[in-house]
Amino acid sequence: MNVYADNAATAKMRPAALRTYAETAEKYFGNPSSLHSDGQRAAEELSRCRAKTAELLGCSPREIIFTSGGSEADNQAIVAAAIAGEKKGKKHIVSTAFEHHAVLHVLDRLKERGFEITLLPVGERGIVRAEQVRNAVRDDTCLVTVMFANNEIGTIQPVAEIGAVCREKKIPFHTDAVQAVGHVPVDVNALNADMLSLSAHKFGGPRGVGALVSKLPVRPLIEGGAQERGRRAGTENLPAIVAMTTALELSVAEMTEADAKIRAMRDKLIAGLKAVPHCALNGDEKSRLSGNVSFCFEGIEGESLLLLLDEAGIRASSGSACTSGSLDPSHVLLAIGRPHEVAHGSLRLTLSADNTQEEIDYMLKEIPRVVQYLRDMSPVWRDLQSGKRNYVL
Ligand SMILES: *Cc1c(COP(=O)(O)O)cnc(C)c1O
Repeated sequence: MNVYADNAATAKMRPAALRTYAETAEKYFGNPSSLHSDGQRAAEELSRCRAKTAELLGCSPREIIFTSGGSEADNQAIVAAAIAGEKKGKKHIVSTAFEHHAVLHVLDRLKERGFEITLLPVGERGIVRAEQVRNAVRDDTCLVTVMFANNEIGTIQPVAEIGAVCREKKIPFHTDAVQAVGHVPVDVNALNADMLSLSAHKFGGPRGVGALVSKLPVRPLIEGGAQERGRRAGTENLPAIVAMTTALELSVAEMTEADAKIRAMRDKLIAGLKAVPHCALNGDEKSRLSGNVSFCFEGIEGESLLLLLDEAGIRASSGSACTSGSLDPSHVLLAIGRPHEVAHGSLRLTLSADNTQEEIDYMLKEIPRVVQYLRDMSPVWRDLQSGKRNYVL
């Protein structure tokens, strides 16, 4: 049996999105900036997508900047706010310790340029409180950026409350909503967000396309032509934008039904995995995305677990950064207080409405088996069992 349980990394493209992608590439080949009729037809298709996306997100069409994905949107939001802040002598940014690297690494760069960055702790539940933001902001804060839902442990943040604090303090607020859009209701106004990032391939659209919604004027990251009202140069990737719009429309239309199905499978998976001795669910159980299952298993290495699960047909993720050649465990798991040795034994399963009950049953049979197999070979597990080392979980 083959089980795809890595939807937070990238979700399979919806067939309807794939179809509109091909149709658009064929039919709307003109450049939307060209004045002739083929160009104008493409431009009209682009504005249809902008209007539809705006309607689905509760914002105005002119607030949408189509980008190459979530990373670009995050980079642009933060860099634009930093440059605007710097002009006013404001060089302090508030964020959290468990943001995506598309946020954290930009903040690292700004730090090198003299910005002061406050990364709020997220506690063992993996949730930052609006009160923490209130206490952290200062007169020289030029941006607050807090993700909507974490990509590793799925925890959902009180974004609207944080946005309300920022509104009150008149500080620009950006949220990386890449894991949320298409999965939970997202209304930019209701969230009190000034800027919001999204990415198509997390909700059944193509890779390499996304958007930054911005209520504030933002300077371009990519300089060149006047596309996107001068906020993002480059000929628009129309087939990808149309396919993203199709995927978003369908995701929103099917959200309630899909959510109930995914949640039921997820709850069964969590309950079943909890029966494995010396393991723990990562992050708050209630305030989390309905498709997210993230566990730490003591005494094993997440990478070995992934490889053996892959052999058994289960495509999962570890949520750790070991693949990049570094042996550092995930910054997210460290942020919720997991010690290094435990953070290494992580497993992330992210479900979609395409998963089935049979697949859940299969995973509940295979995962405990593979965990036990690895533990039987693990010197760390032997030490834990003999009492030479103390269990953390
Ligand atoms: C995937 C992801 C990104 C990056 O989006 P890309 O479109 O892959 O660049 C940013 N933030 C979060 C939370 C993500 O899950």
